[in-house]
Amino acid sequence: MNWETVIGLEIHVQLQTQTKIFSGSSTAFGAEPNVQASPMDLGLPGVLPVVNEAVYPKAVAFGLGIGADISLVSAFDRKNYFYPDLPKGYQITQMDRPIVLGGAVEIPLDDGTFKTIHITRAHLEEDAGKSLHEEFADRTGIDLNRAGTPLLEIVSEPDMSSAEEAVCYAKAVHQLVTYLSVSDGNMSEGSLRCDANVSIRRAGATKLGTRTEIKNVNSFKFLEHAIEYEIERQIELLESGERVVQETRLYDPVKGETRVMRSKETATDYRYFPEPDLLPVVLGDKFIKETLEQMPEMPNEKKLRFVNEYELSEYDSSLLAADKDLANFFEEVTDESKSAKLSANWIMGELSAELNKENLKAQESKISAEQLGQLILRIEDSTISGKIAKDVFEKMWSSGDKVDVIIEKEGLQQVTDLSEIETMVSKVINENPDQLKQYLSGKDRLFGFFVGQVMKESKGKAN
Ligand code: ADP
Ligand code: MG
Repeated sequence: MNWETVIGLEIHVQLQTQTKIFSGSSTAFGAEPNVQASPMDLGLPGVLPVVNEAVYPKAVAFGLGIGADISLVSAFDRKNYFYPDLPKGYQITQMDRPIVLGGAVEIPLDDGTFKTIHITRAHLEEDAGKSLHEEFADRTGIDLNRAGTPLLEIVSEPDMSSAEEAVCYAKAVHQLVTYLSVSDGNMSEGSLRCDANVSIRRAGATKLGTRTEIKNVNSFKFLEHAIEYEIERQIELLESGERVVQETRLYDPVKGETRVMRSKETATDYRYFPEPDLLPVVLGDKFIKETLEQMPEMPNEKKLRFVNEYELSEYDSSLLAADKDLANFFEEVTDESKSAKLSANWIMGELSAELNKENLKAQESKISAEQLGQLILRIEDSTISGKIAKDVFEKMWSSGDKVDVIIEKEGLQQVTDLSEIETMVSKVINENPDQLKQYLSGKDRLFGFFVGQVMKESKGKAN
């Protein structure tokens, strides 16, 4: 039978702010449990939330970035549920008047065309705390450092039809929020988490099938695997005459399967009502205009600028522009080296390889942009050969020493002094009489042998 997949994603993005959305506690990652939890985050009786102004420019920048409507009047609601990591007994979120409505994200497809994924809405809300199951025997610990962390929940229309498209969309959202500095996008620290809603239906059917929701997926690879597993599971159910039950499921990356977590709640279960402790927030046109003016260059604009300004190929330009950090790094290196093409090659080659190996971002590179630029300058001015430069790069990476220090210390300068090279050439010719005879009797290929011997004699430094 022919089945069609329907997917809609809810993406929770942690907004990059110093403090929480309704309290002054720090949002820094990695602290001891419960040291960043104020009375507000603990949900003590009588506490009152105060909204953190810093979340608005971020949420509005995202909305403008996807061409959405910005709600000039937005408001918070209470979503009531009971869970140990939610001490207030409700989450403050936005139900009826979310900050962002509509908009769209374009995703590239394999055939070179684009698909539009429509956005339903994006709303502000607070994160919950975290239950710690592994740390204690037969007990559960509660860490409320995360409670009250500002989130933007981005809800898509059910516009995706494969796991691949869903990953592509999630990556596009990740790129957008990191470009706009809305979020640091650090998925291993939970700054971007996806809930995947998946259903299947007969090919050509107009009515949507019953969906399941896979919660809290924090890597693109897991997202792909979880959705693929879920599609297979639902097809098997339907083909064996059973039904898909609407429920919330969890993906287990170790077993590579999804498992039921709870049956699906509906909006009425949550008894939403307006948050009485917070007034609606009214944004002026001036604020929207200023946010628009402060929007940075977007990936596509950057790519076009790289093609025009640095005369890079479309391919190189889009690879560099895809990652804001890498793009900035490239511009800093080029500023120093004055050669865009060589800088691009070194960044996409040697540097990216090292960064990937150690899972570092461009900013965390062990070789600074200035030093990589200097290395390229030393190739350009013939101090070292391109081949030696790769060794120097390795040494810079591992020792942290400056390029000129390494060249000097290891005596890696190219030999360009003609008489010095001539001496080596004579030596090589004298030491290889047989090869010389063969060469002179017409065996041209031996020329390479002699060049190789001279390079060996010079330890790779003859120019
Ligand atoms: P809830 O808030 O209960 O999770 P929503 O109606 O807000 O439900 O939908 C949440 C997400 O589920 C949206 O991204 C939406 O596109 C997606 N979705 C809704 N129905 C389906 C379906 N039948 N199949 C796949 N995705 C769906
Ligand atoms: Mg949901």
